[in-house]
Amino acid sequence: MRNFLEDGDEARGAPSPESWVVYIDLDAYYVSCEVRDRPELVGKEVIVGPPPSEGPTRGVVLSASYEARRHGVKSAMPAQAAARLAPEAIWIPPDFAKYERVAEEVRDILRRFSSEVVPFSIDEAAVGLGPVSSGEAREVAEKIQRSLRKELDLPASLGVATSRIVAKIATDRAKPGGIIVVETAEVAAFLEPLPVRAIPGVGPKTESLLDSLDVKTIGELALCRPRDLERVVGSFARELIALARGTPVERHDIESGPHARSTDHTFARDANTWDEIAPALTDMADELGRSLDRQQYRYGAVSVAFRWGDFTRSQHGGVLPGAAEGAPPLREAALRFGRELWERSVNSGPRAVRTVSVRAERLEIRSRRQTTLADFDAGASRVK
Ligand SMILES: [Mg+2]
Repeated sequence: MRNFLEDGDEARGAPSPESWVVYIDLDAYYVSCEVRDRPELVGKEVIVGPPPSEGPTRGVVLSASYEARRHGVKSAMPAQAAARLAPEAIWIPPDFAKYERVAEEVRDILRRFSSEVVPFSIDEAAVGLGPVSSGEAREVAEKIQRSLRKELDLPASLGVATSRIVAKIATDRAKPGGIIVVETAEVAAFLEPLPVRAIPGVGPKTESLLDSLDVKTIGELALCRPRDLERVVGSFARELIALARGTPVERHDIESGPHARSTDHTFARDANTWDEIAPALTDMADELGRSLDRQQYRYGAVSVAFRWGDFTRSQHGGVLPGAAEGAPPLREAALRFGRELWERSVNSGPRAVRTVSVRAERLEIRSRRQTTLADFDAGASRVK
């Protein structure tokens, strides 16, 4: 235990300013991209996804406007179920090329404010500001939100904190269209009333494990005995308790971006020849490779997975000789691993592939420079 004198001694030194992070999540992103191009859709129930009226579909809701969400429509819900909840909704087939293009414009805006922009998905990114005051961090968040609205007509929610994980949690609470700044001294109080599900990485399974300890909120998590928690959630316990007590340890996926990025494709009819699978793999690998390249990512491993008609899954992949970038090495590896997986699998009898996925792993950012206040001051002045 630390004694009072030690604390006093520390307090005498000048407090060093902490590094702040602004986390950005675009609201109902795919829908927002469509609505801004078709103003007649403003305020309507809009769903981006394969329209269920086009016969039996395996499609799911990719994005729903807040008007459609009011009826209970959610992302990843089967299209048929969504159509029952919101029969009046306007369905728009997805235009992924457009969403990628607009996402790149978003990242261009973010880079005006910092050289440390880490994309976590097509519509989420963290911007590292370096050591600034919380007031300055809030100001940057407001400028980012205004720029996205004014220049790209996109609504965004933002969370501001001294750790990415808290900034991300704040962003989720700020939806839609808000900004939440969490002062360092207020982290524990901010988290306390939130359900454990608010923590990224806590899904239904961990939630029910925690429920077995009678832990429903992050505040209750903070009071947990580490040993009890470890018994039910293993090594995740340490991280959960640290976060709940207001001293989060940064995770790799929050600190340096995602470990991996993947893409998948479900065939309209199950594919039962390699000749059907190869073109799909080629397109997916090319698209993924280009997308990683635009976001400054290198990758060190590639894998391919097949989900078979009976819903079982097979996977094959490996580490590349060195970090690679761009589409060609990803395509080459995906085709090699895919072909090996296919040949190995069909040896034991004819099979058909329902969904194929390509995954690039061991991602690393190509370059990163420490950001200073001057970076976003200069950047902000470019905002018209
Ligand atoms: Mg979003």
